[in-house]
Amino acid sequence: MDVYGLIGNPVGHSLSPPMHEAGYEECGIDARYVTFEPPKGEGAAAVEAAATLDVAGLNVTVPFKQDVLDAVDPAPLADRIGAVNTIDFATDPPTGYNTDAAGATRALESHGVDLSGRAVVVGAGGAGRAVAFGLADADMTVAIANRTEEKAHDLAADVPDATGHGLDTLGDLVADADVLVNATTVGMKEDQSPVPADALHGGLAVLDAVYDPIETRLLRDAADAGATTVDGAWMLLYQGVETFETWTGVDAPAEPMNDALRARL
Ligand code: NAP
Repeated sequence: MDVYGLIGNPVGHSLSPPMHEAGYEECGIDARYVTFEPPKGEGAAAVEAAATLDVAGLNVTVPFKQDVLDAVDPAPLADRIGAVNTIDFATDPPTGYNTDAAGATRALESHGVDLSGRAVVVGAGGAGRAVAFGLADADMTVAIANRTEEKAHDLAADVPDATGHGLDTLGDLVADADVLVNATTVGMKEDQSPVPADALHGGLAVLDAVYDPIETRLLRDAADAGATTVDGAWMLLYQGVETFETWTGVDAPAEPMNDALRARL
């Protein structure tokens, strides 16, 4: 039996075990997916311990996505993003991947969204970095808007053809955009949106990375404006699908994985 897992602190709330185990069951793969909560600052040590214990693969979440870079050989995209969320122990040293970028692009594509034209990414934290690289690599022109404007400029300097902005010009950026992604935490704890409702329009596809709640204020406003909406559970699903395929080499069964995920939301 293969053991896969997740390191994070905290990890108690994770939806990844049922999602991945639904995939193993559907594909007849003899594997389990478990969660580990190492102390903060011990991400690289946890990866070394997992290698010793013959763990086949690890997902990595907050606060370890940068720490584990010291214990892996990062794949080119993870290296550019500067964060790892998936580790494959089939190589020595283990290889570090970032599947959050594909999580966003595959979520949008699964809803028929054409990834060309202009995108606005709100947020320049971990999720914002991954999404901005994913959309730029898909050939979109990306505008990054962040509350701390300097972080948007820093990220834009790394992402091909991207521009950095504060939140004050968000309305104008969105008016001209084809795709909008919320990669901030706004909407998670309170019924608020990071984007003015009157900037939203019917030509937009809107992905909200926030998945708790599943229907955020931004997605409700976007639906009212006639936009295509994609909730954050789709991004979570497709980062899991991408990870599953990286680890097993088998096409992931997205439907049962999605059912297992949504049953717990
Ligand atoms: P993070 O690194 O802590 O970044 C947080 C971002 O939110 C920063 O850009 C921050 O701006 C912004 N922000 C926080 N409070 C704000 C406010 N009141 N007004 C405007 N901007 C604000 O977090 P993260 O890891 O990127 O996660 C961001 C969100 O994405 C979370 O909700 C997380 O659950 C979600 N996520 C979803 C998936 C998925 O698969 N669906 C994957 C990863 C993350 P400053 O830089 O100015 O602080």
